[in-house]
Amino acid sequence: MRTSYENGVLVACKGMVLAFDAAGDRLDVSLRCITHAHIDHAMKTNDPNTLMSAETYELLKVTGRLKRSADTLEFEKTIDIGSVKLTAVNAGHILGSCQYVIECEGTTLLFSGDINVHDTLITKAAKPVNADFMILEATYGDPNFLFPDREAIYSKIVKWICECLKSDKIPAFKAYLFGKSQELIKLVNEYLDIPVVVCDTVAKACEVYKKFGIDLSYFRESTAAGKELLKTGECVYVSNHRTYIPLNRKMKWATATGWALRYSFESYDAAFPLSSHADFMGLISHVEACMPRRVYTMHGYSKRLAKELERRGLAATALESAGAFVSLIRKEK
Ligand SMILES: [Zn+2]
Repeated sequence: MRTSYENGVLVACKGMVLAFDAAGDRLDVSLRCITHAHIDHAMKTNDPNTLMSAETYELLKVTGRLKRSADTLEFEKTIDIGSVKLTAVNAGHILGSCQYVIECEGTTLLFSGDINVHDTLITKAAKPVNADFMILEATYGDPNFLFPDREAIYSKIVKWICECLKSDKIPAFKAYLFGKSQELIKLVNEYLDIPVVVCDTVAKACEVYKKFGIDLSYFRESTAAGKELLKTGECVYVSNHRTYIPLNRKMKWATATGWALRYSFESYDAAFPLSSHADFMGLISHVEACMPRRVYTMHGYSKRLAKELERRGLAATALESAGAFVSLIRKEK
């Protein structure tokens, strides 16, 4: 089994090439596997041999970029593709996000995609899988990214919402369409007795979450009830874009992203480090739980994370610097 880096990852085994979240146009790809519905991971979705979870398929339909039906696979169910066995397991990042376990010629490789190692209000933590090799996304793989306890962030958000309402302002969030919007809605549903109004695009994404059993309560902005709530101002507003709404009351805008831990978001009234990704220690703990013989890190702080993993006695290499193709079947020294 060999692997190469091409935005996503290509894995070659026994004459087959499997592409994981890869954006390139190579014609020799036997199968494309999408880990989740975020656009940077689902760049090529319309090739005939494309596989994803049923949840990812439904979420991608919301974006309008999916022009065809796709093959879907169930979590924890192994499928045979030629001489390769493929299993999807929960990645804990957003609805339907998965890691892939590839088994070929007796060697196993875990491709992580984006992961979160903690439970949230709407997702369960990523499942560790013991594999010979692992490819890990290193988005926050730097010691400067150690997120506060999630409950502490939740309480800060709740406090900010209450302060906005107390000062007659509507608390509004610009959040990612998939994942963060739904977590914020659920947060308000669980912790506050205040209705949530969402833009129509977020409402469409929420319908998919509801279809897969995530209970969310909200009003669509374009409905009479949604318009009335915005008029009275007694609501929280969630949208995937920042927009001007003619209202009697002023809005205060916040965003929620892990980058808020290190960077200032000056055009916002508040920014909360609520992330759907694992932080530095979360990535390390996931590797330690998976116990691979070697880890290849990619994206984000891949070199920094590989260095830290090596310091802790784990064999690690940044995939970008590992050469065009890496043979995974070579004897590890
Ligand atoms: Zn993502």
